[in-house]
Amino acid sequence: MKKTLIFLLLVITFSCKNEKETNEKLNVVTTTTMITDLVKNIGSEHINLKGLMGSGVDPHLYKASEGDVTKLSSADIIFYNGLHLEGKLVEVFEKMKNKKTVAVAEALDKSTLIGSEYFASNYDPHIWFDIDYWKLATNFVVKTLSEAIPEKKTDFETNGKTYLQKLDSLSDKLKKTIATLPKEQRILVTAHDAFNYFGKAFDFEVVGLQGLSTATEAGVQDVQKLSAFIIENKVKAIFVESSVPKRTIEALQASVKSKGHEVTIGGTLFSDALGNAGTVEGTYIGMFEYNVNTIVNALK
Ligand SMILES: [Zn+2]
Repeated sequence: MKKTLIFLLLVITFSCKNEKETNEKLNVVTTTTMITDLVKNIGSEHINLKGLMGSGVDPHLYKASEGDVTKLSSADIIFYNGLHLEGKLVEVFEKMKNKKTVAVAEALDKSTLIGSEYFASNYDPHIWFDIDYWKLATNFVVKTLSEAIPEKKTDFETNGKTYLQKLDSLSDKLKKTIATLPKEQRILVTAHDAFNYFGKAFDFEVVGLQGLSTATEAGVQDVQKLSAFIIENKVKAIFVESSVPKRTIEALQASVKSKGHEVTIGGTLFSDALGNAGTVEGTYIGMFEYNVNTIVNALK
């Protein structure tokens, strides 16, 4: 009888402890799908993670819904991209003064960034397209989460190390794929200027029809200028982006056609948002591989 009682007490003690641990998990909110994927890889089961933006969502134009404000108010840490990528959320973050808001871009040395006159930050915010930057962002997330939950530091560091290794093998794989495309064929024409860091890292000339932000629409002149460039450089394919309406790229294709030339639409790239959750392209690594395969296959 006594033994049973002790056993029962032990069970109760342990279940209470477990419940306490669950409740004590930190609430972490992230903005873009790229950041959600990164933080999920590091924080794993130790955090309650909520991502605001889904697949196909354009962060430049994204406005916080009432539900988002609720999520943000219950957050212990908010990870966002920064450099004015989430242009319409800046105000909301400013109101969250008591919250810990962390811009992933803080991990980077600003003097190494690509400049831009489109953003209030004066920098191109599409930093995830340089894998070396994303490695720095990984270390930054490990550090931030370790400071917030010191007792799980070892786990965050182990997760970070594993993820860095995955990013290294991704980089090696992509370099091999891109090496099969002759240098003169490495011209990437897309809907908006999201791929400048990609171009710098992998030696592509990159031209976006819209400026760096989708908030500015491409004009007739931009279309004319770019279609002349496509013809002159014998570019075989141009690309739609999953988070930008495809009419801009279709207008460009039509303009090339009206001048008696052909350019195909090489596929849809994931630029400012990953693919659907639960699919390969729904992860940063899967997205990158898919993009590179799509680009190389269409331009060959
Ligand atoms: Zn963008």
